[in-house]
Amino acid sequence: MSVSKTIDAYAAFEAGGRLESYSYEVGELTPNEVEIDVLYCGMCHSDLSMVDNEWGISKYPLVAGHEVIGTVAATGINVSRLKKGMTIGLGWHCSYCGHCSSCKTGDQNLCQSAQPTIVEHHGGFADKVRADAASVIMIPEGIDLESAGPLLCGGITVFNPIVQFDVKATDKVAVIGIGGLGHIALQFFRAWGCEVTAFTSHESKRQESLDLGAHKTLNSRNQAEIEAAAGSFDFIISTVNVKLDWGLFISTLKPKGRLHFVGATLEPLDLEVFPLIMGQKSISGSPVGSPSTIEKMLEFAKLHRVKPKVEMYPMSKINEAFDHLRSGKARYRIVLSNV
Ligand code: NAP
Ligand code: ZN
Repeated sequence: MSVSKTIDAYAAFEAGGRLESYSYEVGELTPNEVEIDVLYCGMCHSDLSMVDNEWGISKYPLVAGHEVIGTVAATGINVSRLKKGMTIGLGWHCSYCGHCSSCKTGDQNLCQSAQPTIVEHHGGFADKVRADAASVIMIPEGIDLESAGPLLCGGITVFNPIVQFDVKATDKVAVIGIGGLGHIALQFFRAWGCEVTAFTSHESKRQESLDLGAHKTLNSRNQAEIEAAAGSFDFIISTVNVKLDWGLFISTLKPKGRLHFVGATLEPLDLEVFPLIMGQKSISGSPVGSPSTIEKMLEFAKLHRVKPKVEMYPMSKINEAFDHLRSGKARYRIVLSNV
């Protein structure tokens, strides 16, 4: 199989910089590697955080993009599962060590040596991207390819906690922040059978949240509304990247309730311990999900018609797309297209 000598991508050359055309050279595929022709790539807030070096781990030139839908272009000599032309996906991780206890027990997303697709590795805002076969996901037939990319990071990040923490159909759950992740979370929780509340800071998203599957909406920045929901929820997932009044949200949990963070809020939590003790409440966080949970999530999404709402941009309009994401006006996930 012939592999590329160069990959044409869009890269940031400094923190917060505009994205510019950038071609980089690649060598032979390693035995377990796959080269992917990128059809579509979703734009996650984490791409923006990496371009802006908000997490202090960015190296430039930086090629972001970790919600890839594509086809197999070429495979390394050890790869038998994937064949040229197959439709596949790639999310936040592009390889795992394969031998630590997390990898061996099926929690590859917790592997401490897992390689993120866009951290010191070039991602999917490009014509091609490379990844280890173990992190490449088969896309079931019947899934809409234009909108599937966002399931591979945004979708799995909100689906995985449902599985990890055994959320029940009879649970009352809430989603804080109705953006890329949050709008998929509303759909998953609704399909799971839960009573779903959307916490949004945008009044205009109230009706849209109901349309996406929420039963109720509350304003995430309105103290009185949140106070009135005291003792309501079994499980709350936060997808926001800003500081909110977390103590107030803890008060809306039932005894034994859980506040789960997937949004990468940078400010430390300032929480009273006493309400946690008295109500035996939990606080937790989690990163994306394992390949097998991603596969389960895709089957579940297909069966229950969970589908990201996407705004399509040609890959060449990547800077316009980034500006739109920064403005907070995306409804609800931007996808770049090479098609
Ligand atoms: P997004 O589309 O920008 O959505 C974030 C949402 O947060 C917004 O839509 C908004 O919801 C809410 N928000 C923003 N500013 C706010 C403010 N000042 N006050 C109250 N709410 C505010 O981002 P995303 O792509 O969903 O990503 C969300 C976060 O998850 C990011 O931090 C990202 O890095 C992180 N992430 C984590 C993982 C993981 O593995 N744990 C995976 C993917 C992403 P409303 O308009 O409804 O208020
Ligand atoms: Zn992401």
